[in-house]
This record gives sequence, structure tokens and C-alpha cells, in this order.
Amino acid sequence: MSSLSIHNTLTRRKEPFVPLVPGKAGIYVCGPTVYDYIHIGNARTFSVFDLVVRWLRASGLAVRYVRNITDVDDKIMERARSRNEPIEALTERTVAAFAEDCARLNLLVPDSEPRATRYIGPMVEFIETLEKKGLAYRGANGDVYYSVRDFPGYGKLSRRNLDELRSGERVAVEAAKRDPLDFVLWKAAKPGEPSWPSVFGAGRPGWHIECSAMSCRELGETFDIHGGGWDLQFPHHENEIAQSEGANARPFVNYWMHSAFLNMGDEKMSKSLGNVFTAREVLAKLDAVQGGEQLRFFLLRGHYRSELSYTWDLLEDAGNTLRGFYTALREVNPEEGPVDWSHPLAKRFRDAMNDDFDTPIAFAVLHELRGEVNRARSPALAGLLKALGGTIGFLQADPEAFLKGGVSVDAGKGGATVDVDALVAERAAAKKARDFARADEIRRQLDAAGIVLEDKPGGVTEWRKK
Ligand code: AMP
Ligand code: ZN
Repeated sequence: MSSLSIHNTLTRRKEPFVPLVPGKAGIYVCGPTVYDYIHIGNARTFSVFDLVVRWLRASGLAVRYVRNITDVDDKIMERARSRNEPIEALTERTVAAFAEDCARLNLLVPDSEPRATRYIGPMVEFIETLEKKGLAYRGANGDVYYSVRDFPGYGKLSRRNLDELRSGERVAVEAAKRDPLDFVLWKAAKPGEPSWPSVFGAGRPGWHIECSAMSCRELGETFDIHGGGWDLQFPHHENEIAQSEGANARPFVNYWMHSAFLNMGDEKMSKSLGNVFTAREVLAKLDAVQGGEQLRFFLLRGHYRSELSYTWDLLEDAGNTLRGFYTALREVNPEEGPVDWSHPLAKRFRDAMNDDFDTPIAFAVLHELRGEVNRARSPALAGLLKALGGTIGFLQADPEAFLKGGVSVDAGKGGATVDVDALVAERAAAKKARDFARADEIRRQLDAAGIVLEDKPGGVTEWRKK
């Protein structure tokens, strides 16, 4: 029987996964900064860790899965200001939209989703500990900084040399810092910005301290797995290590996992480059029933440590392959039940997943199994296909309903179709989240397609063709 190996960014090697407590695993994933809809690059990272959690659970481990929400940040403040919207309204709306996107991608709801603004107390305590240990100091401007030169292991995750980093042009030198690499733990309050009282004066936390304080509260001083996108290695995770190991004087994380980028052409998809597609924008172009699993499959069929380029062709190909799986399950009614791990194909699937989550091989095995189902027309084999897919969050829909797709109405304009029910549901959710701009946009979109909406008492919306 094979056992799980994980590529650990800290050692740059695949290592056997040995949990801290036998039979259990704690995992912390850096979540979204809630000022806007997630893009499909973010969706890739969140899908990867959803797959990791599912596979750990399928392997029999009791997993505690924590993914935070960053709800205090410069970008949030800027966006709220530019939209003339209270910060809390913006973050609430964005958190609700994020939950909707996650549900469409069939992402598990984490066991805990700590929000930064609800953990200010623990963060301040954490900074006090760092100050007592001589790792934090107060700058002349009222900010509190981490003193990087006083933490001997700095740079060990991203394997950067401090002197090279210091001389790098990208490091902005701020007068209040003793060293250009020092980073802010607590920002002194400025007029018009949210702030909390603290022993350091009124202010707000820096970004990095949130993950050290919240992971410690949720999973303990040392835990098994910490995940995030590739770009978070430096400085975010390097700084988390400095904070947590500096304060607690023990190892912070045993396995660091980083997922590779989703690219547009040769460039990382990112808001700052302006080359993003939001998850909901892509989902709106796909079938209302099939789209979520199709996007999930597109994001996960490649290996999580390989970069992936977004193209419409690849997305369509994912849809075709997925429909192939469901067609086999429609033709041969799957026997329900747990995975028969003694079957050779199940073993190969497990070996692939245990080899650092090698999804390309795992899906190739499912493909082979699909061929067997078609040939042998065996309900037991169809059941195995469904159950194996289920270990990583696939193939659980009713095949008939999946293949039929979303209920769509012919708009009569060049053959374009709109999924009325999905749009009506999205509009109701938008109204609930007080996103009236989006709600109006949907009404206009449906109107253009010849659909009239009638809002009835009790929040029910009926529709008819004009
Ligand atoms: P953010 O909200 O920008 O902090 O990003 C949330 C998560 O998405 C982080 O783990 C990022 O590393 C990850 N991420 C951002 N852009 C991409 C991308 N193009 N591909 C994969 N992951 C990404
Ligand atoms: Zn983080």
C-alpha cells in the first residue's frame, strides 16, 4: 500500500507525509482579500487545496481545514472609497459572492474561515510577544515593525539571500525602518481609516501578522500543512515563519505547499496586470448545470505545481471529457458504495494521488476505467468510476440531469440562449447582497433576451417571455 508524499517547498523535495498527530491533519490556506470577485487564477489555488483536503479525508485522516478571509487591507479601503460604500458593506458583499463562487466550483466549506477584523486582539498579543522577544520595534511614525535581522532563519522558505534582497531595487526604503527588509506589524491610525485601540496606539494590523495569529489560534503553534499560491512564498509566508517561529520558538509548519499560476498567455493572471477573468464571468459563459464542474476540471486536470494557461479551447475540452465520463455513467447505472481499493485501477489512482497529488495520471486512470465501463457495461465498474471521482470532488451529479444541462430559453436572436433560471437566481442573490448594480444588469440582460421579470411578494420572482 502506498502512502502519501507531498512536495514541501521548504525542502524542495517530495517527503512522506507524517502528520503531527496520527490520524489527523491540520491545514491552513491563505484565502482571498475581499474587495472584488475572485478571478480564475485565485479559483485555481482554492480548487487545488480543496482537492488536497478531499484526498487527505479520503485517505482516512480527520482534517481540520482553515482558510482565512482578509477583510482589512489597503485595497479594500481604496475600493470602498472609490465606490463610496462603507467598508463593511463591501466586504460582506464580497464574502457572500465568494461563497457563491466556491459553491459553483464544488469547494468544501472550510471548518473555519477566520476573518482578520475579528482577530485583532490575538494579533496585538502576538505583536506584544514579538516586542518582548526583541523582534519588534516601534518606529518614529508610530508603526510597529518586525526586525528581520534579529530572526536567523529569514529567507529559508523562498531561499533568498538577505544581502541580495537588501540591495534589490524593489525594496522600498522607509525612514522609520531600521532595515529595508523590516515589515510592518501594526500601522498607526490615519484619519478616515479603520482603526482599533491597542497598546501600540490606535491602528490596524499589517497583512502578514493576521495569518500567524489566526493559524496559531485555529491549529496551534505547529501544524501540518500551509498552502497558498506560488507568489505568497515571498514575502508573505517568509514573514509568517519569522513571526510564528520568532514568537513561539518552535517549528511553525511541517509541509509548505504552493500551487502554480494560472496564466494568460505567458503572464500570470493578476488584477494588477489587468488580464483577469472572474470566475463568475467564465461561469456565465458556460452551461448553468455543467459549468462549475467543467471549470473545476479545467483547473485541476493539470498538476498543481505546473503552470496552466487559460484558453477557451482547453476549457471546452474539459467540458467534452467530463461529458464523456457522465455519458458512461448514464449508459451503465453505477452501483453505489465505497471505493474497492483492491481493484488494480483503484490502486493506480491512489498511487497517483499519493504521489504529490498527481492528477494528470489520476485522470488518465479514470479515463481508462471509463473505457472499461463502456466495454464491460458493469455496474460495479461504473460504481468504481463514480466513487473514485468522488474522492476528489467529481462525477457526483445525476448523469441524466448533468447531460441535459441548464434549462435555457431560446432568445430568438441569432440562436443565442440564456439560462433564465440561473440568472434569476443570481439576481436574487445579488439583491440579497445589496449588489443592485448587478441585479439591474441581469434584469436588462434578460429584457434584451425577451424575458420579463415579475417580482412577487416574499422575494419570489416569476418570469415570462415578452
Ligand atoms: P489574493 O486575493 O490576491 O491574496 O489571492 C488569493 C490566492 O490566489 C493566493 O493564494 C494567491 O497566491 C492566489 N493567486 C493569485 N493569482 C493567481 C494566479 N494567477 N494563479 C494561481 N493562483 C493565484
Ligand atoms: Zn496568509
